[in-house]
Amino acid sequence: MRPIWLWILYLLAASLPLALAAGLGWPARPIRYELASALGMLAFSMILVEFILSGRFRGISGGIGMDVTMRLHQLLARTALGFAMLHPLLYSGSSSGGPRPWDPTRQLTITTDFLPIATGVLAYGLLPSLVALAMARRSMRYRYELWRLVHGLGALLIAGLLLHHTLYAGRYGAHPAMAWLWIGMTVLAAGSLIFVYAVAPILQARKPWRVSAVERLTPRQWQITVEPVGHAGLAFRAGQFAWLNIGHSAFSLHENPFSIASAPADGPALNFVIKELGDFTNTVGTIPTGTRAYVDGPHGSLTVDGRSEPEIVLIAGGVGIAPMIGILDQLRATGDRRKASLIYGNRVAEQIVHRDRLEAAGAVMVLSEPPDDWTGETGLIDARLLDRVLTPDQIATALFVLCGPGVMMDGVEDHLIARGTPSTRILSERFDYD
Ligand SMILES: Cc1cc2nc3c(=O)[nH]c(=O)nc-3n(C[C@H](O)[C@H](O)[C@H](O)COP(=O)(O)OP(=O)(O)OC[C@H]3O[C@@H](n4cnc5c(N)ncnc54)[C@H](O)[C@@H]3O)c2cc1C
Repeated sequence: MRPIWLWILYLLAASLPLALAAGLGWPARPIRYELASALGMLAFSMILVEFILSGRFRGISGGIGMDVTMRLHQLLARTALGFAMLHPLLYSGSSSGGPRPWDPTRQLTITTDFLPIATGVLAYGLLPSLVALAMARRSMRYRYELWRLVHGLGALLIAGLLLHHTLYAGRYGAHPAMAWLWIGMTVLAAGSLIFVYAVAPILQARKPWRVSAVERLTPRQWQITVEPVGHAGLAFRAGQFAWLNIGHSAFSLHENPFSIASAPADGPALNFVIKELGDFTNTVGTIPTGTRAYVDGPHGSLTVDGRSEPEIVLIAGGVGIAPMIGILDQLRATGDRRKASLIYGNRVAEQIVHRDRLEAAGAVMVLSEPPDDWTGETGLIDARLLDRVLTPDQIATALFVLCGPGVMMDGVEDHLIARGTPSTRILSERFDYD
């Protein structure tokens, strides 16, 4: 879906309860109370939309890119947290208390009934914990699968608590139309989790794959090939990625995202270039051929298909080469006439994958710890290197495709923009969102 439509949909969904509440035309309360209600409603609707912005829906991540989707997910979660934290602080004691006979719909008073307040207080405590745990995920070093489970269940629990609080403590939530809207939005949010963790696996189980080859490319990088079993495979665009589950049930949480390092034009088998980094990736070399696999994809928008720029400059650091291989192979296999060049950085020469092939294709190889006989570029892929190897014409007209470590990506993006390349001509994929 086009980014503009996604933005319109987001604004509509997040502001719908607020707009409906304003449309009720109820007598105004002190401005602080109206502001408190507005912040509470905005926070709740934004939290519910966060379920859809989880990065697992192709319509979204394919439109604005996985990077932007995840950054938005994080930014909007923190914004919603800020609104939620302010919400109760704006109320004061004078019009609080239990239901008043003269105000049955809570138009002028707020409740202090135990249960609706308790669910609000519990959500008030859990929400910052959920956001803090997500922010501290890497430093806390617990298993990624456990984190995903806790994050998903925690979000679901908070949504349930907030629904109860909104319906029974909220002024506007007491109105039947508002109540149904909140229930509908919460069901949609919870349904999105059910889709990702129950419906999608059922669909994947019907289209299994098998590992057909495992090849060591460098001391710590492997190429895994999977081929479809009894179906046509995946319709994808070169440069996209998929969630790969190898050797577990289709319902398992053990699935990891990897860029597809092969071209759709080269047939239905998929290659992945995987770097040893942790629990799963360290075991890749031991996976026997024939192992059952499941592929959820394609996801992401790191693709040059449909772009009109006359030239493509691919810039990869380390295992960020994976999607570039797919893109280069697709350009070659389809006889694409656009000019394509590659700048590929590594620490040492032993880390370069498909070295002969890429050198033959004219890649600019960059090593930060080169051997004595190295004739390629040295150092990091930074502003100085880019100024050395890029022509003014490339800066002015090329499409830049970036994938690699965060520091490299930030530096390259900033420098290209400082040199006058509009961000619409820079495509990026990050392998880590922290
Ligand atoms: C869009 C995308 C494309 C990627 N493509 C490639 C690729 O082509 N080749 C490659 O080697 N790596 C790629 N990665 C990174 C790869 O997903 C992680 O290195 C891998 O999941 C680590 O798993 P682990 O169990 O070995 O490590 P762990 O020790 O479990 O985790 C190490 C770190 O990897 C990340 N990670 C772990 N599991 C997941 C998961 N299920 N989902 C998301 N992140 C996770 C987390 O940041 C975690 O802190 C990609 C990541 C993303 C987001």
